[in-house]
Amino acid sequence: MNTEILSGKGLASLIQQQAQDDARILENEGLRPALAVVVATDDESTHWYVRSIERAAGRAGIECRIVDLGQDANEQVLAGVLEDLSAEPSVHGIILQTPLPNGVRADGLVGLIAPEKDVDGANPLSLGRLAVGQPAFAPATARAVVELLDHFQIPVAGRNVAVVGRSAVVGKPLSLLLLERDATVTICHSKSGPLERYTQPADVVVVAAGRTGLLKGSHISPETVVIDVGTNVLPDGSLVGDVDEASVTGVAAGLSPVPGGVGSVTTALLLLHTLEAARQQSRSGLLAASTSRI
Ligand code: NAP
Repeated sequence: MNTEILSGKGLASLIQQQAQDDARILENEGLRPALAVVVATDDESTHWYVRSIERAAGRAGIECRIVDLGQDANEQVLAGVLEDLSAEPSVHGIILQTPLPNGVRADGLVGLIAPEKDVDGANPLSLGRLAVGQPAFAPATARAVVELLDHFQIPVAGRNVAVVGRSAVVGKPLSLLLLERDATVTICHSKSGPLERYTQPADVVVVAAGRTGLLKGSHISPETVVIDVGTNVLPDGSLVGDVDEASVTGVAAGLSPVPGGVGSVTTALLLLHTLEAARQQSRSGLLAASTSRI
């Protein structure tokens, strides 16, 4: 089997171009879209990721405000910043970047991100709305997987998709997006037992567990499409996914690798979500203004 590499680069640059065009249209209407990224860690790979968002936003003409609170920030400070940004009219999108300082839990904080600015789908309200099919921003990584499958014309309707990982950030929202597209979804987690029981019958396997080498060629059937979402930094500093690429290559029909897969698509989608949020907030502001004049 010749395994096709499903690179995210082409799709990411198409989305980046669309973001650039949309940002220019908004700018001509007098609206400068802005994304705020709240960071409270000294983790170097997180800062690297945040800088990559900043660069992509800059290229698209979107203002990116990095609010770096340092690794000692407490929950109260973080809560105050998220509330202020949620109320600030010149900010249209907000991301709370993990990891957070020791002892600070993300669960309570993400609920403080105004749902209309929740461009990475972190607020539980966004997940709830997705679950019942109402409009909401999906976490960008979950949407990136679906966009990548669409881009390579890999159908999911009526097909079996196994999602490895059940987090609120990737596994659960991705499963909801796939269900919305009529896939039959199996969600696996650390207590599922032998993975191959679920991944071998699957037409598409998405792995988002954060475990190096978790999915091997023996876990899948020929012609399976594999999307790797995991990001693991090895002791030598290199980035790898959750898929054992050596054993999966030659068995899978397609493989979206790490790096070079969903990562860059995720960043580009964050920009698109920010532009959509800016448009919606501008429209509802105009509506509120015209209603108050009546
Ligand atoms: P997480 O919150 O740690 O969740 C990991 C999930 O994987 C959990 O549901 C866990 O099961 C499951 N799991 C762990 N070991 C397993 C095993 N041996 N067999 C089956 N399932 C197993 O992580 P996350 O935030 O969802 O992220 C997952 C991965 O995606 C990480 O590597 C992360 O860095 C990466 N990621 C990448 C992007 C991107 O843009 N590329 C964005 C976000 C995340 P339990 O629930 O039972 O513990």
